[in-house]
Amino acid sequence: MSRFFSEKWKDLEPYVPGEQPTDQQYVKLNTNESPFPPSEKAVERAREEAGKLMLYSDPSCTELTKCFAALYGIREDQVIFGNGSDEILNFAFMAFCDEDHPALFPDITYGFYPVFAALNHVPYTEIPLREDFSIDTAPYLNRNRPIFIANPNAPTGLSLPVSAIEEILKTNPDSVVVIDEAYVDFGGESCVPLIEKYDNLLVVQTFSKSRSLAGARLGMGTGNEALIRELHTIRYSTNPYNVNRMTMAAGIGAVEDEAYTRRNIEIIKQNRAWTCEALTALGFSVIPSDANFLFASSDRIDGGTLYRKLKEKGVLVRHFDKERIKGYNRITIGTREQMEILVDKIKEILEEQP
Ligand code: PMP
Repeated sequence: MSRFFSEKWKDLEPYVPGEQPTDQQYVKLNTNESPFPPSEKAVERAREEAGKLMLYSDPSCTELTKCFAALYGIREDQVIFGNGSDEILNFAFMAFCDEDHPALFPDITYGFYPVFAALNHVPYTEIPLREDFSIDTAPYLNRNRPIFIANPNAPTGLSLPVSAIEEILKTNPDSVVVIDEAYVDFGGESCVPLIEKYDNLLVVQTFSKSRSLAGARLGMGTGNEALIRELHTIRYSTNPYNVNRMTMAAGIGAVEDEAYTRRNIEIIKQNRAWTCEALTALGFSVIPSDANFLFASSDRIDGGTLYRKLKEKGVLVRHFDKERIKGYNRITIGTREQMEILVDKIKEILEEQP
């Protein structure tokens, strides 16, 4: 640490993103990206916008907000866009949590929550998932503390029904409940229809997964207009031009091409079912997933070894060095061809095992 680094960050442990190799030689199944390119409409709109990059982007995201609100059947003052949904999540920690409002989230969930909490000096409690990795909602009821739940959860892929989330919302009326729906399009039930009913609900979604725009960085929050206004206050106090011109244009193109998104979601679901079956046949235990990834372990090989051997064979998956889940790997669902390569490589690795 240099002598210039503020004391307030001395214990900050940054988030570690999944590997992003630059050589493209891997079958890349480690960061839950889409294997499909963005919609042609998104690419075309972004290309058109490139010639206007000498001008700042629209800080109100006017056009994107309009078409997105129309697609979701919500009002324009119920939505905010961010530089990825990570930014919206960080804004939520900044806006709704502090020493007197410490956060609650599961022990096994998106690894950025504890980092955002630490960054914003927000104390937090991690609530253990059940033995089978499902979320027990009881410890979240009547807590009156800000709650963050990824639904479907990551890296497990398991989701809660909306009725369970409604219980959490009802019993914590004075705290914000953030439902992170990064993976909801692949099988979960969305809470967006509840935003009119519960003024403490913030639903966060992303264009990174089902809409194939991870590299563009576009996420959104939807909720009661007062919550959204407060998130805008944070946004205008940090970076009003947080969504750049080309990303905004690509987002509009993606929203206009909803049929393409829906088609890709169906293919991912089919490939997920195929991969789940193939891994199960190889003796893996695979958690039933509502997301674009599978979380799987095997008695025949430990998680870290499988991750390393797959990498040697050109397949990247995600392994977490955390006690409860170190036997597992999180495998993004790609094209059928990618999944066949994965399964073939796993077969080879198991055959090579002593
Ligand atoms: N929430 C969850 C649960 C995630 O897994 C991710 C992706 N790593 C994000 C949010 C953030 O996605 P993005 O910033 O790309 O929108």
